[in-house]
Amino acid sequence: MSETSAPFWDATRDRRLVIQWCTACDAPVWFPRDVCLGCLGDALEWRAASGRGEVYAFTVENKPAMPTPFGDEPYVVALVELAEGPRLMTNVVGCPPQSVTVGMPVQVTWEELSDGRNLPLFEPA
Ligand SMILES: [Zn+2]
Repeated sequence: MSETSAPFWDATRDRRLVIQWCTACDAPVWFPRDVCLGCLGDALEWRAASGRGEVYAFTVENKPAMPTPFGDEPYVVALVELAEGPRLMTNVVGCPPQSVTVGMPVQVTWEELSDGRNLPLFEPA
């Protein structure tokens, strides 16, 4: 965990999804960075995200290459486009993998981590 992304992970302790905004561009910045890639300025602040979005792209993984919290069941790796614009690589849970479609509305849900932080995942909205 880098210092830059620390506010993101701190917020997950309260199950809050936050993203960086560049106040100069008035645009979201994702992944957490020290400067805005749009203007190279550092006028960045953290804002609460709605936690809503839609599936932009996804794949169904049938045989995990590594141990995952999801066991041996097929799971969905998705690029979710937040209502605010950024796209997050995440998992879609809470529904059969074969029911996931591009454009499907999703909302954030949280997977508890052992250290008190929470991992943002998405479920059908
Ligand atoms: Zn900017």
